[in-house]
Amino acid sequence: MLLTLTTTHRPATDLGFLLHKNPVRLQTEEMTFGKAHVFYPEASADRCTASLLVDVDPVALVRGRRGPAGEAGQLQQYVNDRPYAANSFLSVALGSIFRTALTGKSKERQQLADTPIPLVAKLPVIAARGGGELVTRLFEPLGYTVTLAPLPLDEDFPGWVGSSYVSLELSATVTLQTLLTHLYVLIPVLDNEKHYWVGEDEIEKLLKRGEGWLADHPEKELIVSRYLKRQRSLTRTALERLEDEASPEAEGASPTASDDEEQKVERPLGLHEQRIGTVLSVLRGVDAKTVLDLGCGEGKLLRHLLADQQFERILGMDVSFRSVEIARDKLKLHQLPERQKTRIEVVQGSLMYRDKRLAGFDAAAVVEVIEHLDAARLAAFERVLFEFAQPRHVVITTPNAEYNVLFPTLPAGHFRHRDHRFEWTRAQFAAWSEQQASRFGYTVRLAPLGPEDPTYGAPSQLATFSRGETQA
Ligand code: SAH
Repeated sequence: MLLTLTTTHRPATDLGFLLHKNPVRLQTEEMTFGKAHVFYPEASADRCTASLLVDVDPVALVRGRRGPAGEAGQLQQYVNDRPYAANSFLSVALGSIFRTALTGKSKERQQLADTPIPLVAKLPVIAARGGGELVTRLFEPLGYTVTLAPLPLDEDFPGWVGSSYVSLELSATVTLQTLLTHLYVLIPVLDNEKHYWVGEDEIEKLLKRGEGWLADHPEKELIVSRYLKRQRSLTRTALERLEDEASPEAEGASPTASDDEEQKVERPLGLHEQRIGTVLSVLRGVDAKTVLDLGCGEGKLLRHLLADQQFERILGMDVSFRSVEIARDKLKLHQLPERQKTRIEVVQGSLMYRDKRLAGFDAAAVVEVIEHLDAARLAAFERVLFEFAQPRHVVITTPNAEYNVLFPTLPAGHFRHRDHRFEWTRAQFAAWSEQQASRFGYTVRLAPLGPEDPTYGAPSQLATFSRGETQA
């Protein structure tokens, strides 16, 4: 199996200093499962490519091990894709042969090691279990341009379908350490084959390599779960630790605390219950059968949706893994009878990235979420929701900033919650809503939410968008 790394940063041959591998020599390292070779198919001042070729020895792999029983099992032990398609062995080899580069150190070119340079990584064959779309979902949020080409099972038999093999090219301007780190973690995630024992130390390895990017990755749950070979207790520990390490501005870094804080301000009004009740009645009113709850938090709305059989399919999504876990627990998803279980799913994911799971729903509820998104995230969310997920109806609620002066416990000029990036007046929310509606082909209706004050309006506000309908 093969990985190539190319740079066009001049002088490109400096790649040798970054990798600590001299371009003029072939270098080989013995691994327990075979040999790892590094060589340079091209090395000029304009362009330099290093190749890591891992030569897996299928006999060494099974030596001293009992394989699956039976004749077919015997064959499978020796004849499989391990030597050819990039997999965890490549990652292990990379971690060993490029050990120093992975730490970001370079004896001769430290400044260059710290500098983002144009890099292209190619994996001519990789098994993308979960489909090419997954490869994109893993690498695109990290800023890579992803080029994928499906590979046939056998070029002579184009009719043979079902190949999960692809060739993958990733390009970005990043430090070499960043690229190597992403490959090191994500190649085994794509491979998803259980072949080595995972223990607590794998969590440490993952958290160390994931530092600075994994906590905010929209697919962190999938990455962690697959990296740790789906060992549930390890996965949970790792995700919880990641949540603690998430950057303070990571969306929903401490949603549990956040809920309390906001509710303390609003409690005298029982506002949240009213909000959920209103949203529910809108969803019933538009006759939605399939519903998204985006930024579902700990699942307050989900609980009501689940209790009403009108809703045949319910998907809750939140960026905070802890919230997702709490919601799953509170809803007792694992104890639901089979028929109910198929109605609902609660998943971790970010609203900033297009997500196929969100397509094809009748309606989406976005309750007290947009004010948690900063300007850039809000802009991404607008397209994710209205352009890609495109539910027929969308219900959005957000605080009405004008009303804040009436909260006795809220100091002047403060938001209701410290994670809020903005709180809009009625006019601001109306302007934003109308802009989205006209941009994406929806009509919108605005309504106050909660007891209305003659001057300041209601404490919260709600917009209902409907696609392709003329305003009544
Ligand atoms: N809708 C819930 C929770 C509101 S709190 C309720 O009404 O009770 C806001 C929620 O938005 C938090 O749970 C937070 O984790 C989530 N959130 C913030 N940014 C997000 C993003 N980019 N993607 C998905 N969820 C996000």
